[in-house]
Amino acid sequence: MRTHPIQWVRFESVASLNPLLEASLLVVDPQAWFAARGWLTANPRSLARAESLDARVLDSLVHTPEMLDGVERIVGLGGGTAMDTAKYLAWRTGLPLILVPSALTVDAPFTDSAAVRRDGRIHYTGHVAPEAVIIDADLIRTAPAHLNRGGVGDILSIHTALYDWRLAHEHTGEPYDAAIAQQSAALLERLRAGSAELYAVSDAGVRLLTELFCEEVYLCLQASSSRPEEGSEHHLLYTLEYLTGRAYLHGAAVTLCALLMAYLQGNAPDELRALANACGVEYRAILDEAGAAAIRRALLHAPDYAREEGLPYTVLTAIELTPARADAALEWVKRNAVSCE
Ligand SMILES: [Zn+2]
Repeated sequence: MRTHPIQWVRFESVASLNPLLEASLLVVDPQAWFAARGWLTANPRSLARAESLDARVLDSLVHTPEMLDGVERIVGLGGGTAMDTAKYLAWRTGLPLILVPSALTVDAPFTDSAAVRRDGRIHYTGHVAPEAVIIDADLIRTAPAHLNRGGVGDILSIHTALYDWRLAHEHTGEPYDAAIAQQSAALLERLRAGSAELYAVSDAGVRLLTELFCEEVYLCLQASSSRPEEGSEHHLLYTLEYLTGRAYLHGAAVTLCALLMAYLQGNAPDELRALANACGVEYRAILDEAGAAAIRRALLHAPDYAREEGLPYTVLTAIELTPARADAALEWVKRNAVSCE
């Protein structure tokens, strides 16, 4: 029986780290460190900047002895990269782990494996259970609101992921758990009901997103796969990041990819767009940042990428993704991007 990640969550101030810091390796991103300084009165034993998920960079940290000298605990403070770096270091060193997300941008604080990038491709490795995940709404609100609003991307992805899961079941006989799928879909309804709180990044919104992430992660544990929340939308994003050699703000980028894939699935794309807009996800920024040409290339290459990587069966495997269909999906996203100005 795997642990429900909500059991690690403590809704309390980041100041509760103070008694532990002097024997901790603190893995931070600089903005989070700056934001939390007001609450942190103690100094960490060592400090590592979370800069990259590249396996070579992470392994070089593990092999820096002075970094771990006198360290009894790894503390991750920051966004997704800091969470994954801290998890990876805790896994490699066997040291206890505390995670303090400074923004709720991804589900990384609540999952038990670390994302690392090898040769430009994302892989999930290791197995770690933190001692605690500290959720401090005041700290989280120091991050730009659009970062926290974008966090819902890993919940919105349920919309396209469940479609892909059912499709895989119908086409390949892959096991499909209707009860888990139903519980996963219910998370989208809770998101819809609480979208105003999420938009406001209120205490209730922070608590709701934390609970939704934990539920989503637990459903994946029960399904023994990421089927309840990950499908073609994530595969498209991995392709985009592979082709451009860049990483995008995960939640907003997943949302953009989920909109494109919902359109290609013929799976209520307008409904998903309305929910993304109600939560204030700035997926348009990703469209501008990556550029329509790169996203088009990613759409066309995604079926090959999924095959090369041995990714699970999705609509990308099932349909023929012609340039005309890719263009139609892009046009639809661009059109509604203008219409919701
Ligand atoms: Zn994700």
